[in-house]
Amino acid sequence: MEDCVFCKIIKGEIPSDKVYEDEDILAFNDINPATPIHVLIIPKKHIENLMEFKPEDYKIMEKILAAVQKVAKKVGVEEKGFRLIANCGPDSGQEVMHVHFHLLAGEKMGPKIVH
Ligand code: 5GP
Ligand code: ZN
Repeated sequence: MEDCVFCKIIKGEIPSDKVYEDEDILAFNDINPATPIHVLIIPKKHIENLMEFKPEDYKIMEKILAAVQKVAKKVGVEEKGFRLIANCGPDSGQEVMHVHFHLLAGEKMGPKIVH
């Protein structure tokens, strides 16, 4: 997608602080971290949000899950834990229309997910 900021990051047109990359997935530090560790995990395929996954894309979720585990180990939070969030659609406040998972960690978070 021409004007998608995350597609530009994937193509290297916008720099990013990469944490993990493979053929299908990219993970990089959020530019405006909400927690001490805040990594965005995205598929390289442009899919707008969770509702836009087609059955033929479901296998991407397996790769996302594998990447989540690798990123958690890489940033050293596999024991302490983390929170994984995907905003989807207007009520969620989704700003970037390329599906992404926020891996939040590095501090004790409250029981409430919504602020
Ligand atoms: P959303 O609100 O769509 O779930 O989250 C989008 C996230 O992308 C935000 O946390 C925002 O800080 C992050 N973000 C937006 N533009 C860039 C960018 O150019 N680089 C990086 N690393 N993060 C970005
Ligand atoms: Zn995109």
